[in-house]
Order: sequence, then C-alpha cells, then structure tokens
Amino acid sequence: MPPIDESQIRIILLDIEGTTTPINFVYQTLFPYASRKLKSFLQEHAQDPEIQSSIQELRGQREADERNGLEPPAWQDHPEEARLRSSVAFGQWLIARDSKCTPLKTLQGKIWQHGFTGGELSGEVYPDVPIAFERWRRQKRMICIYSSGSVLAQQNLFRTTASGDLTPYITAFFDTRVGAKSEVESYKKIAASLSYEPKQFLFISDAPKEVEAARSAGMQAILCERDPESSSSRCQSDAIHSFDGLIPD
Ligand SMILES: [Mg+2]
Repeated sequence: MPPIDESQIRIILLDIEGTTTPINFVYQTLFPYASRKLKSFLQEHAQDPEIQSSIQELRGQREADERNGLEPPAWQDHPEEARLRSSVAFGQWLIARDSKCTPLKTLQGKIWQHGFTGGELSGEVYPDVPIAFERWRRQKRMICIYSSGSVLAQQNLFRTTASGDLTPYITAFFDTRVGAKSEVESYKKIAASLSYEPKQFLFISDAPKEVEAARSAGMQAILCERDPESSSSRCQSDAIHSFDGLIPD
C-alpha cells in the first residue's frame, strides 16, 4: 500500500477502464455491441438530423484517413442505400481500429444508450467496488468518476450493474470535456469545480501517466493493477490490486 494521508482525503476520484471495470468489458462487450448494431441503428434513425450530420462527419473522417495513407473501405454516396452501407462499413472499420474520432464516439454513445435503457447491455464493475462505495459513503467521503468515456456512458454503466444502481453513490462525473486525463491542468480543474483542495483528493487509475498527472496537480494518487500477472511491466510495489482495505473503517 502506498503512503497516503487518509485523514486529508474527502473525495475519491476514480478512473473506470482497468480500475472499477475490467478493460475487457469495453473490448469484449461494448465495442462488439456497437459494431453489431450499427447497421440497424443507422437504418432506424436515418431521418434524424443528428444522425445525418454524424454520417456527414464520418465521410469527412474517411477522407482524412485516406489522405493520411490509411486504407479505409470505399465510400459511395448514391443511392441512399449505398451511403448507408458505406457508413456501416467505415464505422465498423473504425471500431476495429479502436478509433476515438468524434462521429464514431457520438454514434457509439447513442447505440450503447439504447442497449442500456433497453436492458440488452448492463454495466460491469469488480466485486470490491460496490463494497468500497458503501464503506466510503459511510465515512462521508465523496466518490467521483473521471473517465474518457462520455458522462452519459459512465452513468449508464454505473446505473445498470449486477449490484444495482450505483449512481446514488457518485457525486460527480467528469469526462474529457475538462481536459485529457494525462494533463495536470485537468485535475486542477476538477478540484476547483468541486471547491476542494487537490490534496483532499485520492485519484485511482491503472494508467501511470494519469497517476503522475494527478500527483503533479497536488492530488494524492495510487496506481491500480487489477491483473498484475498479465501486466507486462514489472509489478509496481506501490500499486493496489483491488479496493479492499483501501481506506478501511
Ligand atoms: Mg483506465
């Protein structure tokens, strides 16, 4: 356990992927779901102006990718049916490449939203997470989330876990609208927006760069290694492997 000053900590700020939730949830559940549903989703919402502009943005992204020497699938604008087919093929190509481009993120977010509200998707957290949430709430500590997934996606995930709706435990959700997770400034902004001093936060993430950035902003921070055996890096001696025992009663 790394040396942390528990008495100072008022807010526990958590990363999601690789920290509260297995990375596999994203790659083996969410991405394949979006890829599988992309065609029917675009068909059903073809007349929606937001979807039309996402398709337009996809087309622009494809041109940029081609200019940059990549080989995206061909694109045909006419007839309408071909345009739809092109959007689906290109969208799936982007998903397979783990693209973070905005039109894809927008579409994925909407597709997942349907899946979560319709009950086809449910959020996943490690079993020690709800137990820790309960413990930290009992201690009157706040729990906040900072993840690169959109706030909407974060809320959907925590609302639909096997342990029930965990959103009532969470005071605030932050996404990359406050800035990138590897930037010091983002952590300063989060602290300022909650009117607490950085040292009153404990940030937990599986990404050393993020832990580093939070520390540089003055936060206390710990690296979380959920699967130390598969980790290629040497085991970090000051990392935690679960939330069990972290700030005990
Ligand atoms: Mg992470």
